[in-house]
Amino acid sequence: MEVKTLSPQQTINFAKEFAHTLKPGDVLALFGDLGAGKTVFVKGLVAGLGIKQKVTSPTFVFCKIYRNDNLTVYHIDLYRGEKISDFTQLGLDEIFAEDAITVIEWSERLKDKLPKKRIDINIEKIDEKTRKISIEKH
Ligand code: ADP
Ligand code: MG
Repeated sequence: MEVKTLSPQQTINFAKEFAHTLKPGDVLALFGDLGAGKTVFVKGLVAGLGIKQKVTSPTFVFCKIYRNDNLTVYHIDLYRGEKISDFTQLGLDEIFAEDAITVIEWSERLKDKLPKKRIDINIEKIDEKTRKISIEKH
């Protein structure tokens, strides 16, 4: 699936709708450069899942947790790691195995440690306000 959005709000609205297709256990791998809109997408996603907490970039921690009575969302950001061993020590496999929804920024850094069963979301900056969002289920 592929869409173009013309503003941050459109990306949020799209992610809100997309959230309705998710189920507990899903792992979403986000790809895209700095400023592509990964965190904006997660904001919409978390809101669409019916969680009221404010989403902020977890750049200074590896993981933030958002939840309501029914669902937990792990929001992981691997921007700050360098070596693959920085990530393998985080216990991510335990998180992936949980009945939560896990969304990962800078997924490319996990390389072959990404779970095979996942949803890839690539966000590409076309110009100042335009983004191409491509989604592929594996
Ligand atoms: P990332 O997490 O990928 O580094 P952010 O989501 O933090 O990026 O930031 C994306 C930036 O791009 C924000 O400043 C946002 O306002 C801006 N932006 C402009 N147009 C869009 C769009 N169509 N979708 C998402 N973000 C957009
Ligand atoms: Mg981000």
